[in-house]
Amino acid sequence: MEQIKLNITPLQKWVPNMKEHLYIAGPCAAESRTQLLNIAEELAGYGGFKIFRAGIWKPRTRPGNFEGIGEEGLTWLQEIKDKYGFLTTVEVAGAAHVELALKYNVDVLWIGARTTVNPFSVQEIADALKGRDIPVIVKNPLNADLSLWLGALERINNAGITRLAAVHRGFSSIDPGKYRFDPVWKIPVELKKRHPSLPIICDPSHIAGDTKLIANIAQKALDLDMSGLMIEVHNDPQNALSDRNQQLKPKEAHDLIGNLSKRKITSNDQNFEQIMEKLRNKIDRFDHELLELVHSRMNIVDEIANIKFQNNITPLQMKRFCNLSQNRIDFGKKLNLPKNLTEELFMIIHEESLRRQSELMCNLKLNKESSKS
Ligand code: PEP
Ligand code: MN
Repeated sequence: MEQIKLNITPLQKWVPNMKEHLYIAGPCAAESRTQLLNIAEELAGYGGFKIFRAGIWKPRTRPGNFEGIGEEGLTWLQEIKDKYGFLTTVEVAGAAHVELALKYNVDVLWIGARTTVNPFSVQEIADALKGRDIPVIVKNPLNADLSLWLGALERINNAGITRLAAVHRGFSSIDPGKYRFDPVWKIPVELKKRHPSLPIICDPSHIAGDTKLIANIAQKALDLDMSGLMIEVHNDPQNALSDRNQQLKPKEAHDLIGNLSKRKITSNDQNFEQIMEKLRNKIDRFDHELLELVHSRMNIVDEIANIKFQNNITPLQMKRFCNLSQNRIDFGKKLNLPKNLTEELFMIIHEESLRRQSELMCNLKLNKESSKS
């Protein structure tokens, strides 16, 4: 895929007094003035949170649920900003939302997962933003598609918005495991690899879908060097009008960020560096051995392809694959390796074996035919 450069202004340049990490907090949705001001007052009392979030228009999967308080909520956010000094952020899903958010001096716009999936909507927002100077944070699309996420970031950046960040909020999946949305960590990691200057903020609330699971996800996000967290916080989560199970109370959110281990990216300690170098050398050696073994394994696959060709047998042997997979998972378990790892590893190896066998058997057939003619 063609790499388009993003022109990014660092968070430190637009979030006042920004320390290592940016913490955004606030309810899933603005429900009433009292609710919003209560949450803001308590969060402001703790300190540490720089941006106050609240959904004003809520994109609901099914109709008939609370769809947001609308324009009136923007006046409450203005009050919060004046009273407590937070920057404020709301979700915008189209040009009309952008206009209203700007009219009421919202500081940061966020594009939600259900909007990022649609390039028409993202372009409409980008067009509305041309010539405007406001930071925008872009949530990942619902589906695990890095290109769509990148496309949305590029469209907004092309509109002249350089105060830009990505928000990782997990992906829809038929099997998200214990979470509401599958984090698929390799996607934000790949995004970071392609655009090291782009800040990525994690939204552990939507990934988790359950308050008990938020802390682990938040820690993992910081361990992956993400730039901050966007956390859903409600004064009365049990009675929230949306996303009830995943909203923390203000005190819980405060404790959460206080308890996170903030690790450094590098160290100046010579001793540490020496030990690391030794261990990394060992890892390098093991990786080379691993690849040599894979190479030897593939040589056997080629022999198998030859015999299968001579006997006119299909490359895929489902029964063998199922047995092999189960056997490796069981063996892996004895070595304390998790099922997922062994399963995925052998899925990749087996896929390559099949590809190689098909290719080889095709070539053998062509050779045979050309030697006949
Ligand atoms: C939200 O943050 O409340 C929200 C609707 O998020 P998402 O777009 O990630 O579902
Ligand atoms: Mn929500």
